[in-house]
Amino acid sequence: MRQHGDQYIGGEWRDSLGSDSIPVLNPATEEVIASVPAGTAEDVDAAVRAARAAAPSWGATTPTQRLEYLSRLCEGLAAQQQEIAETVVAELGCPIGFATAVQAALPLGVAHSYLDLLDGYEFSEQVGNSIVYAEPAGVVAAITPWNYPLHQIVAKVVPALAAGCTVVLKPAEDTPLVARLFAGLVHRAGFPAGVFNLVTGIGTVAGAALAAHPEVDLVSFTGSTAVGRSIAETAGRGIKRVALELGGKSANVVLPGADLARAVNVNVGNVFANSGQTCSAWTRLLVQQDQYEEAVALAAKAAEKYVPGDPAAPDTRLGPVVNAKQRDRVRGYIETAVREGARVVAGGPEAPEGLPVGFYVRPTVLADVRPDTTVAQQEIFGPVLSILAYRDEEHALEIANGTEYGLAGGVWAADNETAAAFARRMDTGQVDINGGRFNPLAPFGGYKGSGVGRELGRHGLEEFLQPKSLQF
Ligand code: NAD
Repeated sequence: MRQHGDQYIGGEWRDSLGSDSIPVLNPATEEVIASVPAGTAEDVDAAVRAARAAAPSWGATTPTQRLEYLSRLCEGLAAQQQEIAETVVAELGCPIGFATAVQAALPLGVAHSYLDLLDGYEFSEQVGNSIVYAEPAGVVAAITPWNYPLHQIVAKVVPALAAGCTVVLKPAEDTPLVARLFAGLVHRAGFPAGVFNLVTGIGTVAGAALAAHPEVDLVSFTGSTAVGRSIAETAGRGIKRVALELGGKSANVVLPGADLARAVNVNVGNVFANSGQTCSAWTRLLVQQDQYEEAVALAAKAAEKYVPGDPAAPDTRLGPVVNAKQRDRVRGYIETAVREGARVVAGGPEAPEGLPVGFYVRPTVLADVRPDTTVAQQEIFGPVLSILAYRDEEHALEIANGTEYGLAGGVWAADNETAAAFARRMDTGQVDINGGRFNPLAPFGGYKGSGVGRELGRHGLEEFLQPKSLQF
């Protein structure tokens, strides 16, 4: 077991100013594999000061200079793909195949997309008798969750650095190891001291101190709606900008005339990937009542292909969830669903057979879920799919829009035009039409309780810029 005692601050690894540590568990074995320091408010203060000191000179670099540093960071990410994937398997429990294809490769793709964007981006424009400059927002606090631990770091840190901001990152307690690996790559890329800083720690201590720090200009947060709300309140008092990527309860709507089997199979894969720990997962499948039983049977059949097992084994499709608390929470939701009238057609709340160790949950499909019940309204964050019946299109829209969230969604129809027309009426930030694939250049973010601001692509870069107008 590796005991880390240091934080990355001001261009070097320094002993944490606190003495407490956070154990890092492997969710498949429940073994402690490492520990990292539980950073204090003093660690955070040192990191923010380093970021503040570096901000003027980093903000004055040219896009071409920043491109050079970021290119070296991309080279590091490319060279470390295997280590990244293995680290995420160890601390998150994500199956190695998915970890390689998504947890390691997606952040590399996103980082590359910012190289391309930075290359052609106009940081000034003439508007009448003004030149409007896009200037860096300043010192950025990046607070990230554990479910896509490197992707969420890259989706904040890379555009922030590309924009000319300096950054303090506070990663999730459960997955600090890939964050440390990332800090090592930043160091090797030779960024000036203080441009990027890492403080590991507990959310309510290090995270709260970072979000409240007076020298932070912008807080970019991904995580739960409850914590996002408290961060927005704190930031509001400090007149800081915020970007919030929060939870979801996304609907996948299958309209009559669609390829039902494909829509259901894609939905099952979508919800069970990463053990259901995806904020944009289509956790509600909406099917017209005449096709409902057919859809339920298809989903139950598709779920059989997801057998929980060792995430390090190459053919495993479903690993454990991240920790014991999440496991108990997810199983509790399945029990609540049953109490509220749902029918379990695959999985269930019991522990999966043959896996006495590890935070495993049975991949579960719930039928007869009513739109007003707990599992149809609240984010479960586990491998649980709810199938809901609708009468007609208006009813489907009412159900799809009838939660506090609005992050993602899917629509399937006989043709793209019909699906797109329905999608335009959904209160949500992203909709995949007839299985349209994920686009890392498209803005990602939520309507309503799912958040404020956007990540990825040009919109993601512009979160970290602020306009300044000079009149002539
Ligand atoms: P969380 O909100 O508990 O924690 C997220 C981060 O915030 C962690 O780094 C944590 O340490 C920190 N934090 C906790 N309390 C804090 C506080 N008071 N002040 C400052 N920072 C604090 O969420 P989680 O359990 O890590 O992640 C799961 C949740 O995140 C789910 O609800 C999921 O939907 C959401 N999520 C959303 C997106 C998105 O892009 N919209 C992506 C991933 C996860």
